[in-house]
Amino acid sequence: MVGDTTMTTGVCLHLDAIKTVTQAKRRECDECVKIGAQWVHLRTCQECGATLCCDSSPNRHASKHARASGHPVVASAELGERWLYCFPDETFAEY
Ligand SMILES: [Zn+2]
Ligand SMILES: [Zn+2]
Ligand SMILES: [Zn+2]
Repeated sequence: MVGDTTMTTGVCLHLDAIKTVTQAKRRECDECVKIGAQWVHLRTCQECGATLCCDSSPNRHASKHARASGHPVVASAELGERWLYCFPDETFAEY
């Protein structure tokens, strides 16, 4: 156990396990590009580095990917945003 009780989120071990944040290689959704779809915001999977679209986008590729692959954590790939999100625990953390 890590004795840091100042963080109140504390319920997600996935976010605790992220030591370095994987950034988007390209600012486009890997799946939307293939099908010619539009997206709203981008998220980067912290497990495999895939950059996919958010739940405000029509195809919600990031959350589909999280469910299908079991990769829990994404980072925002939007400029100026520095946060991580865990899908199974619905937990945000800034970094
Ligand atoms: Zn988690
Ligand atoms: Zn997409
Ligand atoms: Zn992934």
